[in-house]
Amino acid sequence: MLRHKIQTRMLVAMFIVMTFVTAPLSVLAQKTSPVAPGKAQVEAVVREAFEKFKTDTGGKNADYIPYLAQVDSKLFGIAIVTTDNQTLSMGDIKYAFSIQSISKVFSQALAMEELGPDKVFEKVGNEPTGRAFNSVFAVADMPTHTGNPYVNAGAISTVSLISAKTADEKWSKILDFYSRVAGEKLTLIDDVYKSEAATNTGNKALSMLLAKYDRIYSDPFESVDVYTKQCSVGVNVVQLARMGATLANNGKNPATGEQVIKAENVPHILSTMIMAGLYDGSGGWAWKVGLPAKSGVGGGIVAVVPGKGAIAVFAPPLDEAGNSVKAQKVIEYVANKLDFNLFSPRSVGLKTE
Ligand code: GLN
Repeated sequence: MLRHKIQTRMLVAMFIVMTFVTAPLSVLAQKTSPVAPGKAQVEAVVREAFEKFKTDTGGKNADYIPYLAQVDSKLFGIAIVTTDNQTLSMGDIKYAFSIQSISKVFSQALAMEELGPDKVFEKVGNEPTGRAFNSVFAVADMPTHTGNPYVNAGAISTVSLISAKTADEKWSKILDFYSRVAGEKLTLIDDVYKSEAATNTGNKALSMLLAKYDRIYSDPFESVDVYTKQCSVGVNVVQLARMGATLANNGKNPATGEQVIKAENVPHILSTMIMAGLYDGSGGWAWKVGLPAKSGVGGGIVAVVPGKGAIAVFAPPLDEAGNSVKAQKVIEYVANKLDFNLFSPRSVGLKTE
């Protein structure tokens, strides 16, 4: 009887000790950044930005891909996904737009999964071109010819690095990888693909030029075709924000918990995004916003806030460089109000005044 009582007391004591020991651990294990803004604050700022910019009429839809010219220019959606998998979204959040150049980030990631960052750096490089994303001059002028994985030449070269026995196999590998990054099955928008495939003579020319310089690593036209398909993948703004949040969360999808991208590759990817994510508008973007981001001519932009989450905005009209006008304004506004700029001590919770 006495023994039984002692045992019970010991169990109670152990329970108390365990509670105190494990409580700080569970705090340490929380996934959110200790300086991430609260939910109510994020909601208020995103709503302000949505109202402020929804009637902005700056920019013009891309028209060199005929499909994109006829997309409704008033479409406008914003989504934030945090590293602890909270989602906040507003506006046209169900509309699937073509991912376009934002795909380049995830093909770069896939190539690095397979070959490691050093090889991708050696075969494609990571230098700004200072030219438009589809520039032929950059290919001819630059010592590396490929520039970086986010200009068309570098992106086509990156696709050519991904291993597969056939182009079809490569394409399904890419689509499957993007889907895992998004945490949902993504599909091709066939009409975008057909529209772009019928008009992409410039990209074919780039691939031939790369062949001349030995900077393309499988069949040039096949690589362009797979690249065209990857640009035609449909995403809605929430899926795009989740793709960004996977990068913010060190390569681990916050919704599925899958480590899709090796953590050690993520800083390399973010370095390319800050340097070339908005093409020849990247310097101005780094100056004003200070966040790694990637745009596409479909009208999407995703910006990554490491350790905290990602914000994606979709609005088709573009500026001269090919970046969504509204998306840039919204992200700049939100990043500024929520202290996201990575180059500011405020981003790690130090107040500057
Ligand atoms: N598919 C487009 C192209 O090759 C992608 C360009 C972009 O989004 N900047 O031109």
